Amino acid sequence: MSKIKPEKKNPDRPSSKKIEPFTRLRGMKDILFEEYRYWDIVLEKALDLAKAYGFRKIETPILENQALYERSTGQATDIVSKEMYNFIDKSGEKVALRPEATPGLVRSYIEHGMFNLPQPVRMAWIGPLFRHEKPQTGRLRQFWQFDLEMFGEAGPVADAQIIQIAYHFFRELQIDVQVQINSIGCPDCRAAYLEKLADFYRERGRRAKLCEDCRRRFGKNLLRLLDCKETQCQEIRAEAPQIVDYLDEACREHFIKVLEYLDEVDIPYNLNPFLVRGLDYYNRTIFEIVSADVPQEGEKRQAALGGGGRYDYLVEKMGGRPTPAVGFGAGIERTILKIKEKNIPLKTDAGKIVFIAQLGEQAKRKAMIMFEEMRRAGYNVRQLFVKDNLKSQLEEADRLGALFTVIMGQKEIVDGTALIRDMESGVQEVVDAKKIVCEVEKRFANNGQVNC
Ligand SMILES: [Zn+2]
Ligand SMILES: [Zn+2]
Repeated sequence: MSKIKPEKKNPDRPSSKKIEPFTRLRGMKDILFEEYRYWDIVLEKALDLAKAYGFRKIETPILENQALYERSTGQATDIVSKEMYNFIDKSGEKVALRPEATPGLVRSYIEHGMFNLPQPVRMAWIGPLFRHEKPQTGRLRQFWQFDLEMFGEAGPVADAQIIQIAYHFFRELQIDVQVQINSIGCPDCRAAYLEKLADFYRERGRRAKLCEDCRRRFGKNLLRLLDCKETQCQEIRAEAPQIVDYLDEACREHFIKVLEYLDEVDIPYNLNPFLVRGLDYYNRTIFEIVSADVPQEGEKRQAALGGGGRYDYLVEKMGGRPTPAVGFGAGIERTILKIKEKNIPLKTDAGKIVFIAQLGEQAKRKAMIMFEEMRRAGYNVRQLFVKDNLKSQLEEADRLGALFTVIMGQKEIVDGTALIRDMESGVQEVVDAKKIVCEVEKRFANNGQVNC
């Protein structure tokens, strides 16, 4: 016998050093099996609603031109100025992982000439967004959103319908929510209001009492001052002029109509004169969906579960023809968190599962064929053919909630039979292997009309 050669050093397998496994990036999350059950129900609800209201699914690339967000979301926003994942790619282009859904959807609408389609064009979108949030906020840096956009409809019924869907989305997932709504008018009436607001903050040294962020924002984004979460700023704003009092005739009329439609379809809402949303492109109706849970002592106002509004000028600003539009986005992870908090029961896998178990090599082969036949015939069939022992197979059947397990063993192969085990009672019956599909069907039908 030849001597065993000493093992050659394989550069891919350093033997002495301990290999540190990789971990996911900060603020990024894996969605594991149990968690995915929640995703299933939330995504299903989102797509069902979208379909019912005539929204069709669309996808856009995760990576876009950085300038797309600078021009739409706005260079002064935190999203663009602080939180964007942007970099220069290998061909020297400035690109960004999308921090928001709407800009890409607007680009797509313009790029594909969707103004030629019958209007309104209604889009439903689900996908991940990326924002380089500060780690201490506990926010995810990759998070998912469900988005609806309606292009080419200026009427208030469009706003109302978007809000209606948003409301039903949460309510039908059994989450108690409130709709907060406001109108920020059009650029004309807003200009008049902003002057008043600036005057208000300049008077009586109010400006000096604002938090640092607000003092910095004062010249750039005055509306955002109303949105500040700091106590001193909230105290000051309580006496601030309200934008709804400065709306021109057309904007006021539009807003009243939206509210009337909501009343008509029984969607409760709260007028919130200080709701502004953090984005540059909104006009007229804006809204947020917040949890109806009362914040705990010391807890700041809860982050919105979703929100949206009208953006009648964005398509034109992005190079398209003037196109009114309104949209809505909901955070998927936040929605799931609410469902978990409330212990809302999950549906188990759609019933009528039949499991196929086997014992012995020959039986395994037979069972594999049977499995394929039943699966193709449309049965909700499951298996664990990698295991040879019956106990672990039956445990898997239990875990999956199978009602029956078909068991094939050596004896059954010889006799041309199969066992059907009722998983609840544990009772096993011998049946003709050729009639197995019918026998299973019969049991699902509670021994009803089926004759084998
Ligand atoms: Zn106006
Ligand atoms: Zn402030």
